[in-house]
Amino acid sequence: MKIHGFNTLTLLDYPGHLGATLFLGGCNFRCPFCQNAGLVLSPQSEPYIEEEEVFSYLKKRRGILEGVCITGGEPTLYENELPGFISRIKDLGYLVKLDTNGTNPELIRTLRENDLIDYAAMDIKSSKENYGKVAGVKDLDISSVCRSVEYLMNSGMDYEFRTTVVRELHSTEDFVSIGKWLAGCRAYYLQAYKDSENVIQRGFSSFSREELDDFCRLLRQTMPLVKTRGID
Ligand code: SF4
Repeated sequence: MKIHGFNTLTLLDYPGHLGATLFLGGCNFRCPFCQNAGLVLSPQSEPYIEEEEVFSYLKKRRGILEGVCITGGEPTLYENELPGFISRIKDLGYLVKLDTNGTNPELIRTLRENDLIDYAAMDIKSSKENYGKVAGVKDLDISSVCRSVEYLMNSGMDYEFRTTVVRELHSTEDFVSIGKWLAGCRAYYLQAYKDSENVIQRGFSSFSREELDDFCRLLRQTMPLVKTRGID
């Protein structure tokens, strides 16, 4: 497994747990607001960390760190390697959280059914109507994304859905539609977009705190837990 980034200590990435985060390269989406342009567009040019270095650190931090978050890029592109890799992490006693864009529902199911993941955070790019535009993929077939939503909502595991909200890409209508689609989901987070040099396409902006709060109120009509993240 090629690991392109290793955040050795985070309080933010694994809800409620002290964790570490591993970044894998490559993605099948091209969300223009993506904060990891290098990892997505040219992972082969990114530096990488030896797997054994990561395992040696995780061995030493047993009992201190509680969880490992696996993010990207899109980790589920590594469907052959990921189960074995996570299995080694679980053998060390860690909780594992998977961040995913939901395009590989079969792998999410396999990981869950083999007790390899404890928490999944799945991106919801937009309403079904505008999904391809926000994911940066023309004529995107979102059936796999829908199957992942369906699976997570019925899996009994801890999960969250989350949307990075971009003024130029999202509208109130999108959240009306998402509210119907994901009605009754366990937890939904709206993440404020932040511009940076690492995004795939510059020039986007965020909604104001008040506007994001309005979206939250709208979504709470169908979801019990809706919160914002990343607002200054
Ligand atoms: S935001 Fe996530 S799904 Fe979109 S391109 Fe970046 S890594 Fe891929």
